[in-house]
Amino acid sequence: MIKDNYNRVHDYLRISLTDNCNLRCFYCMPEEDYEFTPSARLMQPHEIESIAKVFVNEGVKKIRLTGGEPLVRKDAADIIRRLSKLPVQLTLTTNATRIHEFIDELENANVKSLNISLDTLQADKFQIITRRDLFARVYENIQLLIARNFHVKVNVVLMKGFNDNEINDFIEWTKNANVHVRFIEFMPFESNRWTSNKVVTWKEILEVIEKKYSITRLHDDIHDTDKKYTVNNHQGTFAIISTMSAPFCSGCNRVRLTADGKMKNCLFSQSETDLLTAFRKGEDILPLIIQNIKSKEKELGGQFTKDFENIHTENLHNRSMIAIGG
Ligand code: SAM
Ligand code: SF4
Repeated sequence: MIKDNYNRVHDYLRISLTDNCNLRCFYCMPEEDYEFTPSARLMQPHEIESIAKVFVNEGVKKIRLTGGEPLVRKDAADIIRRLSKLPVQLTLTTNATRIHEFIDELENANVKSLNISLDTLQADKFQIITRRDLFARVYENIQLLIARNFHVKVNVVLMKGFNDNEINDFIEWTKNANVHVRFIEFMPFESNRWTSNKVVTWKEILEVIEKKYSITRLHDDIHDTDKKYTVNNHQGTFAIISTMSAPFCSGCNRVRLTADGKMKNCLFSQSETDLLTAFRKGEDILPLIIQNIKSKEKELGGQFTKDFENIHTENLHNRSMIAIGG
């Protein structure tokens, strides 16, 4: 078990498979021309497997594949198969556009739960956010996953004046569907048009919901990033990921690997450790992993505090979300 200097155990690894994506969500991908990493610089399937094994030997129990869009990689199925043999809970964050091609693969790999991005229930707004006409495909694939008994969490990034008028439409969806909606506070990354007045906070979200529904808080585990609730008599649930207004860093158990094999100990960390280059040289990467975790900042990568109104985005040093792996 690798602990950092704040006694936090790190047993959850998020691996980005690619910074490529078939959608263009404006809050995630930088506005200016973004060049995807060439495939030779990405971790190859056997490298992902070997590097993941080092983490698993040190106590990692859960691996999430993310990106970019993990399922646009041609060898995604090979990677999923390799990781499914490790003694971990394997899971994915995806935009669901390719789920119909991968659902059997996911079942065979014993994936039980997926996080799916869907920021609007309106097809025209979906096209504005993602610059692709794929709302129906995503919505159908979510229904497919639910019908096949996967645990489906839907991630909704809320932006004031844009989709916050749909909060209760998402809640209504949980009435008769076994869907778990998670509202995410909009976070600042490189060139993603973030401003503090676009953040819809945990408190504001609850105010909207409580005007219409009677809700109950559910139990959260120490490592959970979301605060969970249920609306009385609804089949599904909802939750709020309050990264900006009420960060949850004290229970953080996560480390990340970017698609080009750099380790990050926090979504907002400035520094990275190049595991892939060391691995390709045949070096032992464990000391690098330990050192990376020991250098983890107490909160939010040491870059800002929960007084997010004071953030000056030009002072933040980080990759864009698509290049980190959400
Ligand atoms: N392509 C996959 C997807 O969209 O689910 C996986 C990668 S995506 C970067 C992972 C998650 O990060 C998505 O749920 C997305 O909505 C979220 N995300 C991206 N940029 C964000 C931002 N600026 N603030 C909050 N969440 C963000
Ligand atoms: Fe692609 Fe996911 Fe980013 Fe949207 S949020 S651009 S689907 S990686």
